[in-house]
Amino acid sequence: MSIDRSGAVVGSRCVVGSGRAVGVDIGGTKTIAALVDGAGGVIQRAAAATPGPDGPDAILATVCRLVHEVGDGADPVGVGVGSAGVIDHRTGVVRSATSVLRDWAGTPVRERISDATGLPVRVVNDVHAHALGEAWIGAAAGAHSLLMVAVGTGVGASYVGGGEVMFGAHDVAGHLGHIPVAAAAGRPCVCGRVGHLEAVAAGPALAASYSARVRRQVTTVQQLVADAAAGSDIARSVLDEGAQALGAAVGGTVNLLDPQVVVIGGGVVGAGDAWWAPMERALREQLLPATVDVRVCRSRLGADAALAGAASLMLLNGEESR
Ligand SMILES: [Zn+2]
Repeated sequence: MSIDRSGAVVGSRCVVGSGRAVGVDIGGTKTIAALVDGAGGVIQRAAAATPGPDGPDAILATVCRLVHEVGDGADPVGVGVGSAGVIDHRTGVVRSATSVLRDWAGTPVRERISDATGLPVRVVNDVHAHALGEAWIGAAAGAHSLLMVAVGTGVGASYVGGGEVMFGAHDVAGHLGHIPVAAAAGRPCVCGRVGHLEAVAAGPALAASYSARVRRQVTTVQQLVADAAAGSDIARSVLDEGAQALGAAVGGTVNLLDPQVVVIGGGVVGAGDAWWAPMERALREQLLPATVDVRVCRSRLGADAALAGAASLMLLNGEESR
């Protein structure tokens, strides 16, 4: 069964209970909660800074306060959470995370939020939640399969087929940023290895590469884009390099997974056509003849996709969630 735009049926999954759930997006800097209806619409939302340096107790207290803010009186069927880090989607325990969320690894997020709110809870990685949202009501609504790619402070991806996320054996599936690419040869990656895509294509990598070449500190991709627009050949070549590396890696991944649609989101996409054009060209250069009709588009919903996707974990009850 195909994905229904109305949200009434997605694959074998159907809307359950009151038809409302709370979706939560725990990011490195911001936490957002939203009350989401059975069609994926956001009814109400609340946001706060993520107290990452203060550790799990403070982060979870913030999440629970926001859940109460949007959920009280609405009878939500549960809370779906997309969180930064590698999340064991069966237990809701954080397998690993960067130091931005201090001591987040090992936190039983599902149990802690469920105990505090009295509601059923499911937890997945934030890119997995984003992909579920795009598949349900976003740029890939109606498609059978989707490759979601997020390019921001890191490079992440997620494959959804028939309404289900591919988590992998260790919930790591989709770490596109950590595949080796020639353009990143010799560059250290945040994961501790060398030569990975993220080291050449993520926002901080673009800013660092540009800073080194112009010998002044540039911290944002926006500044890089502005300089490229103003005629800087160096800025343009740094953008090209990151865009082409990303595009080629995504093109190769399309050959591997054969998704019907590729959705690309994240802060770096905000660079506009100066980034998008070389990215898509490099992507299409890699495609095998059978995959040339793959649709490649920008994320349509931004942060709302992750909220709807997280809520869908509770709203769309199916094989996987039973
Ligand atoms: Zn890496």
